[in-house]
Amino acid sequence: MPDVPVHITRRRGQKNIRIRVKNGNVLVSAPYFCRSSEIEKFVNSQNTWINKQISKHRALQEHADKALNEGKWLIDGKWILYQIVQSRLETVRYDGSDLLFLVKNPHSVDKTQVLSIFQNWAKIILKERFWETARQIGLMPVKVSIRSQQSKWGSCSARKTISLNWRLVKCPPEIQRYIFIHELCHLEQMNHSPAFWQLVDHHYPNRKAAEKWLRDNSRAMFLD
Ligand SMILES: [Zn+2]
Repeated sequence: MPDVPVHITRRRGQKNIRIRVKNGNVLVSAPYFCRSSEIEKFVNSQNTWINKQISKHRALQEHADKALNEGKWLIDGKWILYQIVQSRLETVRYDGSDLLFLVKNPHSVDKTQVLSIFQNWAKIILKERFWETARQIGLMPVKVSIRSQQSKWGSCSARKTISLNWRLVKCPPEIQRYIFIHELCHLEQMNHSPAFWQLVDHHYPNRKAAEKWLRDNSRAMFLD
C-alpha cells in the first residue's frame, strides 16, 4: 500500500474499483461486496502511479508554501511580494506591481484571514473583467457568479447563467480571458461541437496555447 492514508468507500451498483488521488489523499471507491484483500491487491498494483501523483502534489505544495513564507502571493500568473497594511477596510490593493492586503489588525492576521480577504476581492475583480469581455464580444449572460468549485474553472447553465472559479485570478490575464470567452460562447452553443469551437476560435485565436497552459498548471492553481 502507498505510504499515505488510503480512504476506501464502498458503493452499491459500482462494478469496478476506482482510485483517485486528490490533494495528496488516496481515494478508493469499490463495489459494495468487494473483499478488502481484493481492494488491497488492486491498490498495490497501482502503487507506482499513486506515488507519482503524490510526489507531484508534494512538490507543488512545497513550492507554494515556500513562496508564501517568502511573503509572495500568486496573482495574475505572477508571484508578487505582498505587504500587510493596517486599515479600517479589509480588502486588497493591486496595481499590477504592488500588492497590499489591508487588514484591521496586522499583528494578528493569519493565512486563512488573508485568503478570505483575497477571495472577496477576487470576486469583484473577476466580475469586472468578465463583464468587460462580455461587452467586447457582444455575448451577455443573465448573471455571473463567482464560486469556489473544487475542480472546475467555469460553467454555463441552460438558464444562461455563468459560474466562474475565484481561483481564476491566480491565472495569467489571457487565461482568465480564455475561460470567460469559453463560457460566454456556451450561451450560443451548449456543447463542444465544431460550431462551438469555431465561435471560440473567432473570439480567442490562441485557444490551443491557453488549453495547454490549463492542462499544465490547473493543479497548481487549485492549491490554496
Ligand atoms: Zn465548455
